[in-house]
Amino acid sequence: MTATGRTAIPFNRPHVARNELAYLREAVCGGFTCGDGPFTRRATALLKEFTRAGEALLTTSCTHALEMSALLLDLRPGDEVIMPSFTFVSTANAYALRGAVPVFVDCRPDTLNIDEQQIEGAITERTRAVVAVHYAGVACEMEIIGKICERYGLALVEDNAHGLGGFYHGRPLGSFGEMATQSFHATKNIQCGEGGALLLNDPKFIARAEIIREKGTDRSRFYRGQVDKYRWVDIGSSYLPSDVLAAQLTAQLESFDVIQRKRHAVWARYDKELAGWAEENGIRRPLVPDGCEHPAHLYYLLLPDPEHQQSFIAHLAEMGVCGSFHYQPLHAAPAGVMHGRVAPGGCPVTEHVADRLVRLPLFADLDEDEVTRVIACASAYKPSR
Ligand SMILES: *Cc1c(COP(=O)(O)O)cnc(C)c1O
Repeated sequence: MTATGRTAIPFNRPHVARNELAYLREAVCGGFTCGDGPFTRRATALLKEFTRAGEALLTTSCTHALEMSALLLDLRPGDEVIMPSFTFVSTANAYALRGAVPVFVDCRPDTLNIDEQQIEGAITERTRAVVAVHYAGVACEMEIIGKICERYGLALVEDNAHGLGGFYHGRPLGSFGEMATQSFHATKNIQCGEGGALLLNDPKFIARAEIIREKGTDRSRFYRGQVDKYRWVDIGSSYLPSDVLAAQLTAQLESFDVIQRKRHAVWARYDKELAGWAEENGIRRPLVPDGCEHPAHLYYLLLPDPEHQQSFIAHLAEMGVCGSFHYQPLHAAPAGVMHGRVAPGGCPVTEHVADRLVRLPLFADLDEDEVTRVIACASAYKPSR
């Protein structure tokens, strides 16, 4: 309960999909609880349909899918991977674990995505890959980024943790890079608590990806009857999720349209009903460029300065609404300084937005009254100027 006597509105509450409990029961009682079972196949098929990916492999997390991408690219100590500073730690960690150096590029002030104009300036003879993170599921400038990667012979990986259901000029996010990673963490649009996927759009990676996911063995081939014993054939780890989690994920993916419709309704109300207040108070709303369809993953506001970020979050909390800041710049984080390098020009825009951004609660089951309350609470806030 809050000072106003009402139950607080959480930042996130995972949706329970129509068949979720039935499928979980079926998986638990069906006798096949390890990975690569019937639900893994069903979830994978749905994921391929939504993303139009060449191949998809469920993983234990997006973090692990990113680690698999680093293994598949055969990154060596000293190799460099270009990525935004404004992203989750896993984007950088996955490559740093291989001894590669994350090279942090600033973001665009409008979409908060990697500034494609600054990528070329960050390329050296050690550069091997570019990771595009579609912040809030709003696409990076994929046409330009794709051309740069082609010109310099760099791999393109999409960290598509936010972008399932997003499009760039009609093409699904996750279908642009040689590889793309998805997250099914509890905070994402489609979730199974902890989970992820690696999308493979270049067939040359498929065979090895299966091996890396299965502890470096050819067990996937063995299951398909293509070899009579499975053996240790490469390095790898345990990146295959249980079929029980795949059951939850299958139900979630089957309810994708329902979940997305609800999330979009919340997003659209915030954007419309906060517009006047935001304008009056020098607060910026999300910007979605023409040609980008976003999946309503998050709704953020940019406050005029860092003091107002703090006081706005405190104001919301006092009124029983849980708002939150977001990514802290990786280039300035202790591990980012130790393992990474900042691109020429630094990341002033990233530092600016990290200190001003506040996310509002956004989940499928946020009901109309709760949305009304969030809007009322937010717009009762008047930044002093
Ligand atoms: C959530 C997220 C991840 C990590 O996802 P997990 O499934 O929790 O490992 C990675 N990158 C981005 C951009 C994310 O938002």
